[in-house]
Amino acid sequence: MKLLKWLSIVLLVAAIAIVGSGFWLFTKQPDLARFEGRVLSPPTERPSSQVQIMWLGNTNILITDGVTSILTDGWFTRPSDLEILFGRIGPDLGAIDRALARAEIERLAAVIPAHSHFDHAMDAPEVAERTGALLVGSESTANIGRGWGLAEERIRVAKPGQAMSFGDFQVTLIESHHFEFANPTLKSGTTGLSEITAPLQPPVRVTEYAEGGSYSILVQHPDASLLVQGSAGYLPGALEGIDVDAVILGVGGIGGQSERYQSNYWAHIVNATKPEKLFPVHWDSFTHRLGESPRAPNLFWDEVFGLHAEASIQYAFDRAAEDPLLEAALLPLWEPVSIP
Ligand SMILES: [Zn+2]
Repeated sequence: MKLLKWLSIVLLVAAIAIVGSGFWLFTKQPDLARFEGRVLSPPTERPSSQVQIMWLGNTNILITDGVTSILTDGWFTRPSDLEILFGRIGPDLGAIDRALARAEIERLAAVIPAHSHFDHAMDAPEVAERTGALLVGSESTANIGRGWGLAEERIRVAKPGQAMSFGDFQVTLIESHHFEFANPTLKSGTTGLSEITAPLQPPVRVTEYAEGGSYSILVQHPDASLLVQGSAGYLPGALEGIDVDAVILGVGGIGGQSERYQSNYWAHIVNATKPEKLFPVHWDSFTHRLGESPRAPNLFWDEVFGLHAEASIQYAFDRAAEDPLLEAALLPLWEPVSIP
């Protein structure tokens, strides 16, 4: 009887500890307040360039010259922790409505996911449908479009390295690599060459949004040029000889990688393209609803999964500080910024 009593006390304490640490992991976030002063403030003078970008969370970059607009990723749904870990996910039409309205997006020439993971490509067909855009990306991205019922003529499978014209913009998808997690379990789960080989109809498990190849998105315009690197991976030599005014650099996870990987990433993406401006992105939460300002990921995604938001942002600022010609800043959410 005594043993039974002790056993139940031990089990109760263990249960409280598990629930307590779970609650802590899923509700606490790293404090990114020290970067508040690094957010680019809106310019006071009239911009000299017609090209403007607007950050819409993660690696959603709206790029416009006032006539033609294109959007990378177009991902506005924020599934819950439980949905991502144990459930099925699919586009949140309300979230897409709110984001398009907030950014005043009506027409787009193209929606271009950096790769086919859910946090880049999941909403792209619906955004394309609503804005009259072409969905542009890999065969896997095309299958996300087909599964959503987007008409075949609205889907373009990009040929890597081949420029596509949208108004005065030339857009080229350049083969790259996805971020490699230092953790071997995550590494195999996120960097496999897995593809989506048939039309994908959500809701589906998160793992069904297979990578399908990752791209550096090069956007060139008579007034400006920029590179969007959606995931913190690199392909040595891929960007050699391509100079841009600005790099929008996906940093998610990079703070947890080795010194060697970090240096290679910088060398093959930033040094290779010699930008004057650098904007770290993909450090914000993919489970918190997209609001007025960006939110840090909770500690589960940040520490256990390994996004390391604080160290990843710091990485970008530290490396940029070594280059006197390079200016780094965080992009304000929902605010237009001129390039260059
Ligand atoms: Zn990814």
